[in-house]
Formats: sequence, C-alpha cells, structure tokens
Amino acid sequence: MNKFILVGKNIEEIEKFMVDNNQSKYRARQIFNWLYLKSADSYDKMTDLPVSTRELLKEKTLINSIFIKDKQISKDGTIKFLFELSDGNYAEAVLMRFDNRANLTACISTQVGCPMGCLFCATAKLGFVRNLNTEEIIQQIFLIQSDTGLKVTNIVYMGQGEPLLNFDNLMSSIKIFRECFQIGARRITVSTCGIIPGIEKLAELNFQSTLAISLHAADNEKRKQIMPVSKKYSFDNLIETLKKYTNMTSRRVTIEYVLMKDINDSTQDAKNLAYAIAKLKCNVNLIIYNQNEKSDYKKPLRENVLKFKYILEASGKKVTIRLERGSDIDAACGQLSAKMKNV
Ligand code: SAH
Repeated sequence: MNKFILVGKNIEEIEKFMVDNNQSKYRARQIFNWLYLKSADSYDKMTDLPVSTRELLKEKTLINSIFIKDKQISKDGTIKFLFELSDGNYAEAVLMRFDNRANLTACISTQVGCPMGCLFCATAKLGFVRNLNTEEIIQQIFLIQSDTGLKVTNIVYMGQGEPLLNFDNLMSSIKIFRECFQIGARRITVSTCGIIPGIEKLAELNFQSTLAISLHAADNEKRKQIMPVSKKYSFDNLIETLKKYTNMTSRRVTIEYVLMKDINDSTQDAKNLAYAIAKLKCNVNLIIYNQNEKSDYKKPLRENVLKFKYILEASGKKVTIRLERGSDIDAACGQLSAKMKNV
C-alpha cells in the first residue's frame, strides 16, 4: 500500500485525508501545526492527538519520504545534509549562519544532478538524473529544522539543479514555504542560469521572491565558452528579458558573477559587465570561485576582486562579495556533487 506522505501537503489535503479516514476535520490543523510550525518528526511527539489517531497515522502515513543519510559540519558552522530519496538517489542541502545575523539560510536542491553543463561546476559533472518532486523539495527544509531544532528563516534555491527546469514543483514548493512554513516571499531567492521561458513565466506571475541570475560573463562569446545555456538563450536576449521582468514585477534582480582567474576577472570584463547591465535594475553579487580538483579553474587574486567590485560600484551598482561558506566540506557554491550510493 502506498502510504500518504504528510510533509509537503497543504491543510486542505490533510483535512481530506482525515475525513476520508473517518477522523474529525479539525485534527488536520493540529497535525499541520506539528509538522510545519514545530517540525515534529514522530507521531508520538503529537501529544494532543488521541492515541487512536496516532495509530491510524502510523499505519497509513509517512511523515517524510526522504531521510538524512549523512551530515557534515564545517569549521565555520555550515552544515551539509545528504538526503537519501526513496529511489536510492541522493540530494544535498546546506544550512548557513552568518556571524552577527539572526538569519538562518538553507540552500536547497531542485534536481538530482543538473542538465546545464556549466564547465566550472562540480554538480554539472553528475549529469542530469531527475527532477525532485514538491514533497522532496519541502522535506529538505523540514528535516533540517527537525534535526537541528532551529527555524530556517531564508531559503535559496541554489543547490543542485536548475530550478526553472522544474518549474511547477518550484512554484508549488514556494507556495508551501510561504503558507505553511510562514517564510515570507522576500526571504526566498531562486537562482537560474538563464532559462528565458522560465523567467518570462515568473514575470507573468508577478513573482515576488528574489530572482538571481548566474551570469558569470559580460558578453555572449565568453559566456558560451563556460555556460552552454548561452548557445540556446543568448546573453543579449537574457538581459532584455530581465529588463522586462524588472518592469513587470517592480523587483530588482540579483546578478551573480563567479570570478575565475584569467577567465572573467579582468578590468575589461568589469567594464563590459558594468556596460551590459547599466540599464538593468539589479544588485551584483560577486562570488569567489571555489576550486575543486575536478576542474582547472582557479580563484581570482584578491586585488582583482576588489578592482572588479570598485568598477561596478563606480558605475552605480550595489555590489556585495558573497561570503564563502563550508568549502572545507565541499558545501560551497558549485561543490555539491553527491548523487548515488558509493559515489
Ligand atoms: N542552476 C542554478 C542554481 C544553482 S546555484 C543556477 O545556475 O543559478 C549555484 C551557483 O553556484 C551558480 O551561480 C553557479 O554558477 C555557482 N557555481 C558553480 N560552481 C561554482 C564554483 N566552483 N565556485 C563558485 N560558484 C560556483
């Protein structure tokens, strides 16, 4: 018998399950609160439910369908979670806390592996296995919260996979994070390598979370060399689409730019970038390349990073340098690469 999986369902679905099983409808709200507000990971923690209801739930439901297989803690406090999915695949998520900030940010995955093939990224080396379903996306946050006893305040869709190629599950998971986990739209960021039809759909839906774009180059020729997606959706079309997006949603986008030594970190690159995004309502987030042994790309020199930042700032943009987190446990950007057993 297929059991009814609780985490990932909304209140109406849990109510229907309860009514179909001859239970009072109002019990659904109690279960909902246990799951989403208290991250209860066992039925016995749901102390205001009658024992008979708990027995029924044990028989007919599962709280979660994915499980924590491994956990690594970095010296900076970042935690990387490896989840085992019901078909034996793996997914990863990362929990980060930044000093002096109350925010607790979780970086979650939307696919097993990734089809985009960015040359510098470790996840790309896995290839694409499959999309995660809505429940598998939601349960990453549920398990992080139940395991640590902490409340996640911010979510970034920057783990494995391309969120805009798993559009429906992305959107339904955001709805549940907002409505059930009570995480505000502005505390959610979706990062894409530039899937234009997906960005257009977000614009039509008047997307109110933050959209981040992995741009990483300042012109199409350079971008095509490191990001094959640019062969299909060109740099210029991407920037035009983003301009329309910011007009339609009245939201600024975030331009992410991974600086790689001698690839895209020169003064000329910075000037080209400033020019390309001059009329785009955006902030810029510079990321220092995380080296890994599977690739030849290298970190930029510190002075080049600062020069790059200065040039963009001088052009009027707000620029931040992303703090590196969890690189000692391969949890930093572009380092998520676990897929299957024994890999
Ligand atoms: N597919 C989406 C979501 C992944 S986000 C996207 O491309 O935006 C992961 C981010 O880490 C992307 O910006 C990616 O380009 C970046 N990245 C990949 N490898 C990296 C590395 N080694 N060092 C730093 N950032 C990297």
